[in-house]
Amino acid sequence: MKYDRIWNFNAGPAALPLEVLERVHEPWFNFMKGGMALMEMSHRSKEFDGLHNATIARFKSLLGLGDNYHVLLLQGGASLQFAMLPMGFLPAGKTADYINTGTWSTKAIKEAKLFGNVNVAFEGKDSEFKHIPTQNELKLTKDAEYVHVTSNNTIKGTEFFKFPEVGDVPLVVDMSSDIFAHEIDATKFAMIYGGAQKNLGPAGVTFVILRDDFYQKARTDLPAMLTYKTHVDKNSLYNTPNTFGIYVIGEVLKWVEEQGGAAGMEKINRAKADLLYGFMDDNADFYRGTVEKEARSIMNVCMRLPNEEIEAKFVAEGLKAGFIGLKGHRSVGGIRVSMYNAVPFQAIEDVVAFMKKFMANNA
Ligand code: PMP
Repeated sequence: MKYDRIWNFNAGPAALPLEVLERVHEPWFNFMKGGMALMEMSHRSKEFDGLHNATIARFKSLLGLGDNYHVLLLQGGASLQFAMLPMGFLPAGKTADYINTGTWSTKAIKEAKLFGNVNVAFEGKDSEFKHIPTQNELKLTKDAEYVHVTSNNTIKGTEFFKFPEVGDVPLVVDMSSDIFAHEIDATKFAMIYGGAQKNLGPAGVTFVILRDDFYQKARTDLPAMLTYKTHVDKNSLYNTPNTFGIYVIGEVLKWVEEQGGAAGMEKINRAKADLLYGFMDDNADFYRGTVEKEARSIMNVCMRLPNEEIEAKFVAEGLKAGFIGLKGHRSVGGIRVSMYNAVPFQAIEDVVAFMKKFMANNA
């Protein structure tokens, strides 16, 4: 393969489009004729200012959002948003609804409980996180401050394709692992956030998108860095941002546009998912999916092989054959194939060919 690269199925940080890596490499030493690399430039320079604002504009246009949304590019990861969200929007004594569909929602719930009441509107633990709830399974609070949902469960391998109907209650989503993976109506959300390191770019940037009417309700008497208003007022430049990360995200967003936006990505992602899940279904005695079919993620495909010894062998032989990242998360074991936007169809064809051969030798 070009540059001796291998197929990257890591869960995050994850594969980036090769075209983007090539594109950002070219102007490395003398960015925009500024005489230095972007990483060496001031975050107040005209070069950075231009690309920062273009990245924000592209983010909005790809999501179909208007001027009533604020796009922030911050640090601290999605994990900091688990805390910042309730700190800003969940006053003591008030209630927020959380839909618990996996490890990351569980963490978000733990943080929210530090600040206010949490109503777990759906407890996925009871069905071993194999299931994505339908509307009538949700026990929503009438006057909740917000409803929180994790759109894609990176570790368990499930995903929402139809989001909860919540009426006038603000809907907040952690979209860390499936932003731009498929078409969504982003205007349904009061807040969308996530870490960039899966579908968007390198680690170290957190996107936070706030609808203005919701944002106006956020507390403003917290430490500056924990106050959304600080970041909105300063266009994410209150402190020094991850300039290089934001640059790469801008290039990834251009690439997403070239693929036809989220709709274009969805077509490719569905083809990849059909191929891999189709193969698993045809060989379910050997490659056993771990979640309900309707709940299957098109980003993170989780499976078990006949035993742990064979799984370890699969990971080791996979690495030798040029596939990295096939090991399931340490908390669940098994095999996980993370196939984010930047993982091409060819990678799935190749891994399926490997799976066929491996099964023939080990069944
Ligand atoms: N939410 C989801 C769905 C995730 O997959 C992750 C990271 N794997 C996180 C939150 C935590 O993100 P971060 O490491 O950026 O804090």
